[in-house]
Amino acid sequence: VMSKNKSSESVKVVVRCRPLNRKEESNGPAGGIVKLDLGLGQVILRNPRATASEPQKTFTFDAVYDANSKQRDLYDESVRPLIDSVLEGFNGTIFAYGQTGTGKTYTMQGAWLDPEKRGVIPNSFDHIFTHISRSQSDKQYLVRASYLEIYREEIRDLLSPNHGNGRGLELRENPDTGVYVQDLTLCVCKSIKEIEEVMNVGNQARAVAATDMNEHSSRSHALFLITVECSQPGPDGRKHIRVGHLNLVDLAGSERQAKTGVQGERLKEAAKINLSLSALGNVISALADGRSGHVPYRDSKLTRLLQDSLGGNAKTVMVATLGPAPQHYDETLTTLRYANRAKNIQNQPRVNEDPKDALLREFQKEISRLRAQLNHRRWRNKQKKEQVEGEDWERDGDDESEGEEEELDVEKDAEEYVKLEEQRLEREKNAIREDQFMLAEEKQRLLGEKERMMGDLRKEQEATEQLTAKYKAMESKLLVGGKNIMDHTNEQQKMLETKRQEIAEQTRSEREIQQQMLTQDEETLELRETFTSLQQEVEAKTKKLKKLYAKLQCIKAEIQDVNDEHVRSRQELEQTQNELTRELKFKYLIIENFIPPEEKNKIMNRLTFDPEEDQWKFQPLVAAESKSTHLKKRPSSAVGYKRPLSQYARVAIAMGANSRYRAENIMFLELDMTPPNTASLNRSMEAEPSQSPSVDSSPTKDGSVRKSRSWRTPPPPEPPPLSDRAPNRPCLIGCRKRSQTDINSGLKKHWNKEVYDVNSP
Ligand code: ADP
Ligand code: MG
Repeated sequence: VMSKNKSSESVKVVVRCRPLNRKEESNGPAGGIVKLDLGLGQVILRNPRATASEPQKTFTFDAVYDANSKQRDLYDESVRPLIDSVLEGFNGTIFAYGQTGTGKTYTMQGAWLDPEKRGVIPNSFDHIFTHISRSQSDKQYLVRASYLEIYREEIRDLLSPNHGNGRGLELRENPDTGVYVQDLTLCVCKSIKEIEEVMNVGNQARAVAATDMNEHSSRSHALFLITVECSQPGPDGRKHIRVGHLNLVDLAGSERQAKTGVQGERLKEAAKINLSLSALGNVISALADGRSGHVPYRDSKLTRLLQDSLGGNAKTVMVATLGPAPQHYDETLTTLRYANRAKNIQNQPRVNEDPKDALLREFQKEISRLRAQLNHRRWRNKQKKEQVEGEDWERDGDDESEGEEEELDVEKDAEEYVKLEEQRLEREKNAIREDQFMLAEEKQRLLGEKERMMGDLRKEQEATEQLTAKYKAMESKLLVGGKNIMDHTNEQQKMLETKRQEIAEQTRSEREIQQQMLTQDEETLELRETFTSLQQEVEAKTKKLKKLYAKLQCIKAEIQDVNDEHVRSRQELEQTQNELTRELKFKYLIIENFIPPEEKNKIMNRLTFDPEEDQWKFQPLVAAESKSTHLKKRPSSAVGYKRPLSQYARVAIAMGANSRYRAENIMFLELDMTPPNTASLNRSMEAEPSQSPSVDSSPTKDGSVRKSRSWRTPPPPEPPPLSDRAPNRPCLIGCRKRSQTDINSGLKKHWNKEVYDVNSP
């Protein structure tokens, strides 16, 4: 149900260059390296290191704004048409791209208090709510806002910074509506003031969280999201809802972060900081190229969130911001190339009509449900009243057929009803009190009953009041065209506004015509010309040749530049790859040699890939509850006892203190007879050479129990008499120790299997 026109349009790209700041002015007389042709929409970039003969680089955009440009001009020319589309039900995105300190935040937010310096976001607030206040009264609007930031690939809700337990919010995908942020706070806004408040709250949350505001704001992406839902009766008489999503994006600074010398954890951090931005670059490249089938949207949070805005269902404006200082020539050139590439992206915007997730529809349903409830109450009260009074309670021909537009008088009716009822009950109570023929007990009982009825009545009234309050609150959130918001602009101001918009429109179309003329001019070069003399022909052709030669040089230089850049970024990527490979090998080394295989398998079995999050995750440990109860079951031999017992031992216990059975539940284990080889022990053995073998190496005469002995305590001077070694003397349980050589050989075997070279990439 979401289609209107399948036409495609390209991403609009405008460039804005900020003035030189004081520091840059004092740096030297060189001045700016950026020249702008406002009429043609061209940026001419001078390389401060190049010779005078080298051609300057020229880029053409949809519009360019110089140091003197007004916020309002940029808005009226380049943003207003987009917001108008959002109000019609299109998706729209504006993002500011550029090096830190070039005016992204100035362009998006600006200086709030100075009306001249208000940026795109506050101007769009004015625009949206003014539009609503001036629209027809058959339209209902619902405006809501969210504010989030992406920092180190974590999404943070700026309107409720603490939820998610400090961990980032997650992205989810809905087949109908696309990618969204789970649990993101939505604020329904009824006025400019309210939505400004939302913005301020978010900005404060941003500042509070940052330890270094400059560093933080230059490395995080801030997204302010506004959804405008509009319901209007269609020709079929039913209400149709159109939903426009507006993304206002202040991107992280585009400057290259040097990766050289960064290792391990810090490397990963650095990679994460830049991930969203480099992914955005890759997406733009893939889309601009048009040939590569795969667009890597899934590589980062930012590109997933902006998927519709880049090559999808949205109208998109990119504002590339530049600084004029010569020392930033490379960054400025990179920004211009980036912006130039983005021009080639084709979007397929369409009006979102009657989407399943329209909040406005839910509001309307809830409001009519509450209305029905209130109507029911009213009807019931009326019924009761008729019973009480026995007369018709209707006033002024008020009847049941409640039109939706009719004002509800429930509250008033309810009050009136309660008042009458109270009066009636009071009258009845008095009547009971004055009744002289009634018994005192009976009186008491009836009075109590009336009291109770009064209580019920009050409770009932309270419930009605609550319901009414809820109804009113819900209804106030829906903005009715030309009703909820008063438009205080007078006619003169309105005229002025319209004129300004007309001028902006004209400037835009003039620029378009000029750009067209320029391309036509180039094409006419190819046209066949007739020459009256040879001389003329030579002149004309020489001129042509010179022009073409200059163009060729430009393109050659461009190719060289692009190649250099390509080589540079490739080297960087290779370096990163080497670092990561080394780290990976190191991790493998640890896993293979220091983690028992069964532990490793346990961990591997718990790993699952979460396609939503695009990463590997651990399954919880307590997966199978039945398994754990199974483990806790005692072995049958131990039922009723502290530990497993043999049948024989049970009989023994049953026999009580009979000495015959006393020590039969004993395990018999061989002792380790490997002789110790420490010098001191050898000496002690030498001192008593004849005694030790007779005790230990020969089996004892009775053949059932061998007596243990400690190597440390010297053997008794004389072998004890045989009678002393009774068969039922308990023996110590000896455990054969694994010898050191055994362990060593085992490890060696393990190490020989796979030994990784940590240092080779
Ligand atoms: P970014 O957000 O790109 O890092 P900022 O918006 O913070 O840059 O701008 C850096 C400084 O330059 C600010 O002090 C801002 O007021 C100033 N500035 C930026 N653009 C302009 C402009 N077009 N006109 C005047 N001042 C500007
Ligand atoms: Mg900024």
